[in-house]
Amino acid sequence: MHKAVWSIDKRDTVALRYINMKNVEGIMSKLREGGFRSTKTRRVILDLFCNSKKPLSCRDIQKYLKQKSTSTNRTTVYREVALLKSEKIIEEFQLSDGVRRYEILLNHHHHTVCLKCREINCIELEQELNNQEMQIEKNNKFKIISHSLEFYGLCQKCQAVKK
Ligand SMILES: [Zn+2]
Ligand SMILES: [Zn+2]
Ligand SMILES: [Zn+2]
Repeated sequence: MHKAVWSIDKRDTVALRYINMKNVEGIMSKLREGGFRSTKTRRVILDLFCNSKKPLSCRDIQKYLKQKSTSTNRTTVYREVALLKSEKIIEEFQLSDGVRRYEILLNHHHHTVCLKCREINCIELEQELNNQEMQIEKNNKFKIISHSLEFYGLCQKCQAVKK
């Protein structure tokens, strides 16, 4: 078993949000250090993840690979995703629709989800919920380890469409 070769400090988050090709190279070289070969497919997938502002499904990845005329099958995509996940480069994000989506491992954040077209975007709260968490812990004698909070509604595009 390979050990995770990539860990991200919370302070790096702002930089990561605007991660560029150079960072893809950084991830690639970390993976190489961990004993993983560089492949064109992996590079294209990492490039996609690094530039995406929303979680991606395996289907999204396959679509993108096709656009980039990187021929690959579903098995390859699943294998790449599993590898990036086990190396802690991406993390899984699951909504109630049951579709597994993945995003580059950023700091803790939240999402808006369009109920109509399922568009998902990453957002940060102006104020995180630390105070509420403390209150919940106190009132319920419950030790909170993490929370997940998504906002459901209509994206701008779907708001514009008349029924
Ligand atoms: Zn929408
Ligand atoms: Zn996100
Ligand atoms: Zn939060």
